[in-house]
Amino acid sequence: MAEALKVAEEDAVKTKVPITVARGDGIGPEIMDATLRIILAAGANLDIEEIDIGEQVYLKGITSGIENSSWDSLRRTKVFLKAPITTPQGGGFKSLNVTTRKTLGLYANIRPSVSYHPFIDTKHPKMNVIIVRENEEDLYAGIEHRQTDEVYQCLKLITRPGTEKLVRCAFEYARVNGRKKVTCFTKDNIMKLTDGLFHKVFDEVGEDYPDIEKEHWIVDIGAAKLADTPEAFDVIVMPNLYGDILSDVSAQIAGSVGLAGSANIGDNCAMFEAIHGSAPRRAGQNLANPSGLLLGAVMMLVHIGQTEQAEKVHNAWLKTIEEGIHTYDIFREGVSKQKVGTREFADAVIERIGKKPDTLAEVKYKPTDFRKLLAEKGATKTTVAQKETIGVDVFLHWKERDANKLGEELLKLGDDKLKLKMITNRGVKVFPDGFPETFCTDHWRCRFVNPDQKAIEHKDIVALLSRFNEKGFDFIKTENLCTFDGEKSYSLGQGE
Ligand code: NAD
Repeated sequence: MAEALKVAEEDAVKTKVPITVARGDGIGPEIMDATLRIILAAGANLDIEEIDIGEQVYLKGITSGIENSSWDSLRRTKVFLKAPITTPQGGGFKSLNVTTRKTLGLYANIRPSVSYHPFIDTKHPKMNVIIVRENEEDLYAGIEHRQTDEVYQCLKLITRPGTEKLVRCAFEYARVNGRKKVTCFTKDNIMKLTDGLFHKVFDEVGEDYPDIEKEHWIVDIGAAKLADTPEAFDVIVMPNLYGDILSDVSAQIAGSVGLAGSANIGDNCAMFEAIHGSAPRRAGQNLANPSGLLLGAVMMLVHIGQTEQAEKVHNAWLKTIEEGIHTYDIFREGVSKQKVGTREFADAVIERIGKKPDTLAEVKYKPTDFRKLLAEKGATKTTVAQKETIGVDVFLHWKERDANKLGEELLKLGDDKLKLKMITNRGVKVFPDGFPETFCTDHWRCRFVNPDQKAIEHKDIVALLSRFNEKGFDFIKTENLCTFDGEKSYSLGQGE
């Protein structure tokens, strides 16, 4: 008997899944303690490595907020359960969340927003939306420049492989979780190339999922519809900035940002967390709601294949919520039955392990190796197009405000390879035939193209820039104007 028990114990140790845990700052340690207690009580089979991140690391002078030895743990376990951290204001401290996402290549952020009517106050009783947000690209590439006295620029990058991986992740997630529809939000009526690519890739990848309904909304009206009628959506996939904003909106209108967990998925690693911050004012008082981190941990258990334990935790949590045992942030007189602290809430969930909710829908998880599934599909190879350069946009810092004067001077700089076609200011054409009413800054985009639409060489651009230099113009950057397989791959000036 003793021998059999020993073997069983040894088997359990062998199948333990290594994960890295960070207790974070503010309310982090309390909600992590509650979360770990609950998932271990439900039989989660984990080999936990703890690392320190956040405030204490920043204060040691490590501006990234994470030590090298911690990266080693993350590379080893490939699974990160992370409590919120406090990013100190000022002082050149880097956001650890952005660093972790980018360093570990966590390209997709999956955030469910679910309402728990009638137990938690919500404007939308039937809401159950998953937002899949791109996590690495878009305006978050962090490439910003001040170019002139008046103008600052942030580069928006959308890539084909990045978008393909993300969109595929959204469709696969939908399929695995029995979702019926995937919606794409972009602003491709304005950003025809960048958001246009995102939309195009959505349509292309979507063809591999005939069983799933597909639709596209322009993000502004889509956001309005989401805030007003979230029941109309199921899974929504979108670029980074829209996803950042709308996943908070959607969590809040479902009930509370304090309830939502999220998964950050990469090719090799994955990170699971609550969507809220470290709430420093609530720290150390046994007040915080551990639900966001707990639901993040449920997503982690599903990810590592411990679906039975994930179901147990999730259903026990639903039962606790249903029975009106609530922390202060969701407590409502008349609906809630008992106001509890973090520890007591965790105890209540643990007591209900093995129970199912009566009114709220019971949760069931299908065992799926999501990471393997995505790896098998992979991103398609980039096709190398026939590229020709047919012109160049030269950006100038020029302090005079007279577009016609600038135009007349730049016409003289042209040669038979490159001739001035137009000048724009903030994207609006101001030369030739601009309107005197158009407001101009000190930032000018001067478009030179080959008059015969023939290919030019880099040396033709260098020669043009030399002439700019001789005339004392302050050029701040250039952008080549190219065709890919004969198709123009740049936007026209507004009014061109
Ligand atoms: P926050 O999410 O910490 O707090 C916002 C509000 O929600 C506060 O009123 C807070 O008391 C309440 N709240 C949040 N989580 C709660 C919970 N689990 N239980 C009960 N109430 C809860 O946002 P903030 O105040 O803007 O940011 C505080 C710190 O957190 C900042 O340093 C910020 O940089 C950091 N932050 C970290 C993360 C992360 O690590 N993922 C995310 C967002 C913010």
